[in-house]
Amino acid sequence: MARIARVVPEVSLDRAFDYEVPERLDAQVILGAKVRVPFKSREIVGFVVDFPAEPFTGKLKPVLDVLGSGSFLPASLIELAQWMANYYCSPLTVALMSVLPKAVRHADAAFKQRLWIEPLAATLPEEAILALRKSPAQRAAWEHLQKSGPGWLADLSEAGSPAAWRGLAERNLVSIQPRTQERDPFLDMPVAESAPHEMNAEQKAALVLVREEIAAEKPRVVLLHGVTGSGKTEIYLQAIAHVLSLGKSALVLVPEIALTPQTVERFRARFIGQKTGVAVLHSHLSSGERHDQWQQIRSGRARIVIGARSAVFAPLADLGIIVVDEEHEHSYKQEEPPHYHARDVAVMRGHLERIVVVLGSATPSLESYHHAKEGKYRLAEVCARVEEGQMPVMHILDIRASAKKGAAPVLVAPQLIEAIQTRLDRQEQAIIFLNRRGYASSLQCPQCGHVEMCPNCSVALTFHRGAARLRCHLCDFAAGVPHACPQCGHAPYKYGGSGTEKVEQALVEAFPKARLARMDSDSMRGKDAYSKTLGDFAVGKIDLLVGTQMIAKGLDFPRVTCVGVINADLALQIPDFRASERVFQLLMQVSGRSGRGQVRGEVYVQTRVPFHPSIQFARHHDYAGFVEQELEFRRSLHYPPYERFILVTARGRNEGKTLFVLDQLVREMERLGLPETEITGPAPAPIARIEGRYRFQAFLRTRRIVAVTPRLRPIFMNRAWPDDIRVTLDVDPVDLL
Ligand code: ADP
Ligand code: ZN
Repeated sequence: MARIARVVPEVSLDRAFDYEVPERLDAQVILGAKVRVPFKSREIVGFVVDFPAEPFTGKLKPVLDVLGSGSFLPASLIELAQWMANYYCSPLTVALMSVLPKAVRHADAAFKQRLWIEPLAATLPEEAILALRKSPAQRAAWEHLQKSGPGWLADLSEAGSPAAWRGLAERNLVSIQPRTQERDPFLDMPVAESAPHEMNAEQKAALVLVREEIAAEKPRVVLLHGVTGSGKTEIYLQAIAHVLSLGKSALVLVPEIALTPQTVERFRARFIGQKTGVAVLHSHLSSGERHDQWQQIRSGRARIVIGARSAVFAPLADLGIIVVDEEHEHSYKQEEPPHYHARDVAVMRGHLERIVVVLGSATPSLESYHHAKEGKYRLAEVCARVEEGQMPVMHILDIRASAKKGAAPVLVAPQLIEAIQTRLDRQEQAIIFLNRRGYASSLQCPQCGHVEMCPNCSVALTFHRGAARLRCHLCDFAAGVPHACPQCGHAPYKYGGSGTEKVEQALVEAFPKARLARMDSDSMRGKDAYSKTLGDFAVGKIDLLVGTQMIAKGLDFPRVTCVGVINADLALQIPDFRASERVFQLLMQVSGRSGRGQVRGEVYVQTRVPFHPSIQFARHHDYAGFVEQELEFRRSLHYPPYERFILVTARGRNEGKTLFVLDQLVREMERLGLPETEITGPAPAPIARIEGRYRFQAFLRTRRIVAVTPRLRPIFMNRAWPDDIRVTLDVDPVDLL
């Protein structure tokens, strides 16, 4: 009896289809194999996910062909994709395709083949010496090869023309063979090996805990709560070294923004002596690099993987540990279908593969902290900075005080200016943070109140002074700056809220001699601008760094002793139940940039709500205090982590139809009688229109998420929505706008 292969097609369907495995392909059709199969009147590509004993239907068509070699998907990742499809209400295909990068899936995905030249003899044989006398070009090429050793034809073209090399090959003196060249993004970055630090007592205790879970039959998740600068990375490194010594591999997730060359270097430097390859996966790799890194991981040559969100699916065999650094970061959430959260997927992967997952953060998410307090996760705490480093002094600057006297509101308070001056005088560095780019967040006519709006989105246009343009930060629409108000003809305009460009201008005026750089997505457009600026800052070529969240996270510069937050209130104004948590985390993170060296740092926070709990708890570096109050608040309002949210969004060009579609959907969901679930909406989204599409939302709040999503699935799967309306379902949403 022929075997049956269950195949998930690459096209977006929520179904698998069964095929018969012909005898001639029997050995090649393995779990995770890439196959060509007939589908209706076409042929399509898919992946083998199962070998059922009984087919869905009676008569089966055969698998036509096996593409590529080996398995593209280990069994554990297929299981993970199935879980994801279920939990996030996503078509199985969509889940599988997130597991498998496009660069690997693609029909033409392959290693790059280049010609490799190698000498076939150590010295020239007698008869060849004579022959080469008549051919000086071949002689020169041969001599070069003797000195330089084997290499790529392309690199040896200066030593010999292709004809000369071919001549040598015809004389059987060298071989020219096609060979795979792996594109290695770190080829040109040598590192010096780093030795492990002698850990302090708290670090040791945390490592012991992680090692207990590594040894456990059914390991629990470890939440590593360590203040900024407490040496969490050292704990990861030593835990990973232990896992490698057991013959297992390791996966480290970091937020995209923190995946800098410096971060990768710390890992490479520690393990460079072990012949253990470190592979890196992130969104800036070329498709060729991604393919090669993935193959390196799959083949077992790379035993450590560092990557951003999607690296959670790295095809490592015998994984021994997953580390999720900065686990509270929102960039772990994928904002496109299947809307997975890489931290939660990591926890599930750890559960399926029975390995320890370490979640690390200075400000753990309330979700993870709640799990730790309930005993579901184990908690390891590191409360002190390494080497007696002290937490910075926090100064809260009430900028209402200066506005009260009728003067124009200050952008940079005098106390902060003075502090920066003091630090600059001592050859120290400062970071000034504002989470808003551009010059002014709106242009308003002082006479009639008209605000320049984006024609496609329901937001005001931002004025960019450098480019002398108005820009929409949601859809990238750009327009010239009108000379007068188009409504009433009045000129000039009034600038709304300030952005990084304006802060930069104010600082240049205040510190004309300081070397200043601005870091935001406008100024950092080039591929290497980011690492170059950070490099300049590290070696002291820059005194003052102004920027958006780009500079808030993870940077470790010992000479930074002063951090300023221009407007802590911005994020508090966002209509999101996590706003307080975000502001608290942000303040703790930026303050973590200050005073990482020998000198104690300080932080200045400008605000109009100085007594807001997020600001007050951050001022005292009091994570536990903040969390206790915030959890109480979440519990009383039935918010996560006590209950779960599902956000259903409909988007469409026709406002009425979009609302109608969502309204119908809400009724359908209500008819399901979901257990312990409350449905609200539809209502316009906080940002009611983006890119010309109206947006409506409905919320589900439930205590029984695992029971609810499978019942919602049928409503959303394989469904065609009318006109151009798009509906998405987001389980555990992070972005509520
Ligand atoms: P975190 O990730 O908790 O912010 P890091 O791991 O970046 O902290 O550690 C901060 C600095 O302290 C790093 O330069 C690291 O090499 C160093 N470090 C870590 N542990 C020790 C230790 N036990 N003794 C001395 N230095 C340490
Ligand atoms: Zn727009």
